[in-house]
Amino acid sequence: MSHFFKKKVDRRSRSAMVEFLSNHFRYDSMSSWNGVTTYANKIKIQNIGLTPSQLGKAFTLLDVDYWDDIRWPIDDFTESQGDQYTITSNGRSGGYLILNRSCRELTGHKSYCPSCGQLNFKSVDSSSDLCGVCHKPRRNFDVPPSRLSVYAGKDIDQHEDFHIEDWSMDALCERVDLICAFDEACDQIRSNFIALLDDFEVVEETIYKPVQVKFLQRAA
Ligand SMILES: [Zn+2]
Repeated sequence: MSHFFKKKVDRRSRSAMVEFLSNHFRYDSMSSWNGVTTYANKIKIQNIGLTPSQLGKAFTLLDVDYWDDIRWPIDDFTESQGDQYTITSNGRSGGYLILNRSCRELTGHKSYCPSCGQLNFKSVDSSSDLCGVCHKPRRNFDVPPSRLSVYAGKDIDQHEDFHIEDWSMDALCERVDLICAFDEACDQIRSNFIALLDDFEVVEETIYKPVQVKFLQRAA
């Protein structure tokens, strides 16, 4: 179901593509004080086209941490963009999904300890290279570990007029494809949220946690 992805953009028409990109909803890339904006979609629960009963249920979810259950379209999107773009949330209580530039960087770790999980910046040369924490043998990574770096606070196409000298038809098409993929990922997250509303209910339970306490005891 599409809510954010609204219309097919005619890739043969320069003006249709420029109109789509120029009129797309935008939001602050980091905070409002620096005035930097990027492509965005508003995901506040009042604004995503819920039925009255879904909306009522959505309010009962406000204290429930469900983001990890519905966020997977972001990973798919990021991977499909070769890690050069990703989606983050911004605004008070994350009411907006925004497009960010990103890149994948090596963490620099060369080896790890299979026993305790400790990472190490040096590779293992001999079997006597032991873990500094648990003193078991370390192992080299087959694939060096990496992490996604997000260029938060940078604008994307702010004040851009998509002038013909700077933007070929191919470049415009590519940018429209990117923003459509962004909108579709936001739609998928919205669908995941609605499926959550329809298929689950909030259960309240009191749990008991062990707590460390100190008290006085008469010396023997
Ligand atoms: Zn270890």
